[in-house]
Amino acid sequence: VLILVPEFFASLKELGSAFHTGRGSVAAAKRVQEELEEDELPVGWGKETFKNPSMPPTIELQNLSFSYGGERTALDNVSTVIPPMSHVAIIGPSGAGKSTLLNILSGLIRPESGNVLLDHKSMATYSEEAWFTQISYISQNPYIFSGTIKDNIILGVSENVSDLEVRMAAEKAGISHMIERLEKGYDTAVGEGGRGLSGGEKQRVALARAFLKKPTIILFDEPTVGLDLKTEQILQQSMKELGQKATVITVAHRLHTIKEADSILLLSHGQVKASGTHEQLLRESVDYQNMVMTQQGGRAE
Ligand code: ATP
Repeated sequence: VLILVPEFFASLKELGSAFHTGRGSVAAAKRVQEELEEDELPVGWGKETFKNPSMPPTIELQNLSFSYGGERTALDNVSTVIPPMSHVAIIGPSGAGKSTLLNILSGLIRPESGNVLLDHKSMATYSEEAWFTQISYISQNPYIFSGTIKDNIILGVSENVSDLEVRMAAEKAGISHMIERLEKGYDTAVGEGGRGLSGGEKQRVALARAFLKKPTIILFDEPTVGLDLKTEQILQQSMKELGQKATVITVAHRLHTIKEADSILLLSHGQVKASGTHEQLLRESVDYQNMVMTQQGGRAE
């Protein structure tokens, strides 16, 4: 079984060797799998496939709990339903469990108790290939392997892609100008872990991947650090376009993203403190009101 979207494994293991591959993505994915130790792969995948892979599945979180082994529980009995095509913003203070939830949704880690259901069946019953084909995870530290920028953009895309498609994906992701200024352009080598690229550039490579892959589910860890206005607008536009055909689950920091979401999940100490639309939460949740006031006071929209 190939790992078609291995980018999440980057955080598990620094991948040492270079990928000198002609076709890039699939070969690279194979290598990633070979290099990972058995026990580092997420356990418990099955054989199930999606009946209609072009439609996002309904996602149900049932009483999810997770702890990293310390005293604190990172997630404590989290339940919610995410209908197909909906856009969900996960918000909450630092340490609330937002990234942990995104990692569980990605399949990278499994809940200690509780379950993630995809179309009413446990995630664990699906094959990893079936699930990873559905999703793009645009984290703040996406997986970049040692190879060319082009190979990195086509990573995880199973079909042949033309240079024009790669350029168009890079353009939509707002990284084409930067790449085309380089002497070797898309053939420029980047180092392991994305050496030679800034954090934002790595995230835009992951975004370009998503444009080629056309996933039905996008997990997006919105940048916290101040972006320049132009980059903000590109990210916003890109997510809007990708979100037209996908369920989007964002760990959100910008008020704009939060307001636009179909539903907001406010986490605190691993628990769901409130959920609903911006208007509902403004009426019903003091925690949310406080958070919005802080955001409006402290952060440009
Ligand atoms: P932030 O906004 O700061 O990224 P978050 O809401 O994403 O925070 P998580 O990163 O999910 O929160 O962390 C939830 C809890 O789990 C925190 O108490 C955190 O300290 C703890 N935690 C997170 N990752 C690890 C880890 N790898 N090992 C041990 N504890 C961890």
